[in-house]
Amino acid sequence: MIQMKNVYKKYPNGIVALNGLNVEIAQGEFVYIVGPSGAGKSTFIKMMYREERPSSGQMLVDGKDIAKLKNRKVPFLRRDIGVVFQDFKLLPRLNVYENVAFALEVIEEKPQVIKERVMEVLDMVGLKHKAKMFPRELSGGEQQRVSIARSIVNTPKVMIADEPTGNLDPDTSWDIMNLFEQINSTGTTIIMATHNREIVNKLRHRVIAIEGGLIVRDAAGGDYGYED
Ligand code: ADP
Repeated sequence: MIQMKNVYKKYPNGIVALNGLNVEIAQGEFVYIVGPSGAGKSTFIKMMYREERPSSGQMLVDGKDIAKLKNRKVPFLRRDIGVVFQDFKLLPRLNVYENVAFALEVIEEKPQVIKERVMEVLDMVGLKHKAKMFPRELSGGEQQRVSIARSIVNTPKVMIADEPTGNLDPDTSWDIMNLFEQINSTGTTIIMATHNREIVNKLRHRVIAIEGGLIVRDAAGGDYGYED
């Protein structure tokens, strides 16, 4: 379902962030991306939702090379891919409900459908009772829950997360991981870059380790494996 073929990425400043990656990720997999800072993890992840394009090579999603997708088609790709960031990226002037509804409003879903679906996902992340609150009134863990709700409201086939627990305390991180597990159990592919050794070692899934823009390890049910 997701396939990289010889993906090479050189940024305009001359830095080679990915040096010829080959990888396949099947529908429904849960994959951790690990590696030291500067290894290329974020660049790898950005390729998957066309935030960056490979300088050469193919980035295939459902057999289509998304590197070749016209810019006006990118929003359609993003509807099938939920993205969660370390810093949540919620819209500060919109309340919880509106932050989540936004993704459905842009695709002109019917108001009643939007309302039902938004309340359903807010219920799933345990925040139905805070629908009218604003991001600044929420804890970090709650804000991350809102961003997860927003990322799944379109029922995407794939969820991409870049250090989703990076700003959270350990207990809250586990709560967030439980949500990801739940989402994965419904068949959604999850690709998560993380530095969280405890989580990777305890909730075992495929581990892809990147170093210097290369995949140095790819192990089903692997461990974190670094001493950082
Ligand atoms: P990681 O997520 O593993 O820390 P990144 O993918 O962010 O790694 O970065 C890989 C390399 O590419 C680093 O050397 C970084 O400085 C460089 N890099 C990342 N983004 C850009 C950019 N937009 N422009 C230029 N260089 C970049």
